Amino acid sequence: MSEPEAIIVGAGPNGLAAAVTLARAGVSVRVYERANTIGGGSRTSEVTLPGFRHDTCSAVHPMALASDFFTRFGLTDRIRFALPELSYAQPLDSGRAGLAWHSLDRTVDDLGRDGAAWRQLLEPLVSHANSVAGFVGTSLLRIPEHPITMVRFGLRALEQGSGLWNTRWHDDAAPALLTGVLAHAIRPLPSFAPTAAGLVLATLAHAGGWPVPIGGSQSIVDAMAADVTAHGGEIVTGAEVTHLRELPPARAVLLDTSARGLQQIAGNRLPAGYARRLGRFRYGNAVAKVDFALSGPVPWTNETLHEAGTLHLGGTRAEIARAEQEVARGQHPSNPYVLVSQPSTFDPTRAPEGKHTLWAYTHVPAGSTEDRTEAIIRQIERFAPGFRDLILASTHRSAVEYEEYNPNYVGGDISAGDVNTVQLVARPTLSLNPWRTPLKGVYLCSSSTPPGPGVHGMPGWNAALLALRDEFGVTTPPSLSPLPEQIVER
Ligand SMILES: Cc1cc2nc3c(=O)[nH]c(=O)nc-3n(C[C@H](O)[C@H](O)[C@H](O)COP(=O)(O)OP(=O)(O)OC[C@H]3O[C@@H](n4cnc5c(N)ncnc54)[C@H](O)[C@@H]3O)c2cc1C
Repeated sequence: MSEPEAIIVGAGPNGLAAAVTLARAGVSVRVYERANTIGGGSRTSEVTLPGFRHDTCSAVHPMALASDFFTRFGLTDRIRFALPELSYAQPLDSGRAGLAWHSLDRTVDDLGRDGAAWRQLLEPLVSHANSVAGFVGTSLLRIPEHPITMVRFGLRALEQGSGLWNTRWHDDAAPALLTGVLAHAIRPLPSFAPTAAGLVLATLAHAGGWPVPIGGSQSIVDAMAADVTAHGGEIVTGAEVTHLRELPPARAVLLDTSARGLQQIAGNRLPAGYARRLGRFRYGNAVAKVDFALSGPVPWTNETLHEAGTLHLGGTRAEIARAEQEVARGQHPSNPYVLVSQPSTFDPTRAPEGKHTLWAYTHVPAGSTEDRTEAIIRQIERFAPGFRDLILASTHRSAVEYEEYNPNYVGGDISAGDVNTVQLVARPTLSLNPWRTPLKGVYLCSSSTPPGPGVHGMPGWNAALLALRDEFGVTTPPSLSPLPEQIVER
């Protein structure tokens, strides 16, 4: 092996986005991945029974569809997605539910008295969804390209992220439906940062939609890895990097690790001031997840819920807010918020015929070792009595086991850094170019940098563009479009 010009540590979506970008610019790259398979938070495997393929981490990909990186990469030409008509749903007791259809009009119609308020909240964002996705695609310190949309977005995030959050609603379905999305960020509600993150997802639900990849999230990273190797790059798995000194000489090193991983790998080479600032970067609360192999579809009381790609369980707005407060206080809620995805409804490759997989996780305090299988089953049973009888097998992963699986998830924090208001901007430190470290040629490209968590590749793309400019004198972004043989048939 000749020495590469650029090294990437970590083959998660962001490490691979960086590798694709550099390789496509003609730089020779080598990726080192500690696990035996590539993909980080975008892996799919048979963790329960043969023939049942489960997404170990990410499952639903509105951000991949909206991302500038993946648009340039032509992701939807390279792999196939299923797009549920019902983007997400919020079951309530007595068989009622809030339903966020891909169609905004249909959602508004279903929400009755609160339909107009839903439209007023989201339509101005949905009609500028590209701008909404655009300004979260980079550092928030940069001047936005679409300031009016940014102001509209900010005002809505302030309202729904504050004590005013109930003023526009009359019934319980619409606020519960919205709270299901706002709660993704594992923070107490109402508050600004999770609301901003949630409003982006709520906007995308009525714009590009909330798709699931055919074949699982693994298909996304497999397409990226194929592009890296097609353009001369190498990927070495089972290769953990513990210090920069272990690496062969290279002009650029991009770390798809947490900010803490950067500190460990760079060791005492980091200037003291920067190391101190990295040390102040906070990690958030965590998740515990269960994958189920089922003998049939979930018996939702409300039949329409079979059409949902994603469901948020936990009940009303007040119930979800209470559960999230309890997690923030270090407790395991007895009535937890649970995220559910039912991919096999839309993708027959996930389970043997007639059978199903179900992906479900809940929020827990950082460092939790608790098995939440029973709590998750009870919450699903609340809206789908008889669910328990369909379980053929299940596998649980606690917060601590998530960190063992992938050290980027510090204490089980799947965002590689708390999504609080300060860290929306200072991620991991306050800088116009937070992907650059003070060490010559060393960059951070993981979700510990803007725009944060999600499978969108933007930290990798942003870090690689900086490295291309600083280290290789390349100022024009490379084309990432697929080769003819990489385009899948429809
Ligand atoms: C349970 C769960 C559910 C999620 N659901 C969704 C979802 O539905 N949609 C969505 O968009 N996002 C979701 N996410 C978040 C998403 O998976 C992450 O934000 C995303 O994967 C981050 O990408 P990354 O490349 O920054 O890091 P990661 O995906 O974490 O990849 C980092 C890689 O680097 C490797 N690595 C780390 N340290 C070293 C080292 N020292 N040496 C070598 N290799 C190293 C790791 O093994 C890993 O493969 C979810 C995450 C989890 C855990």
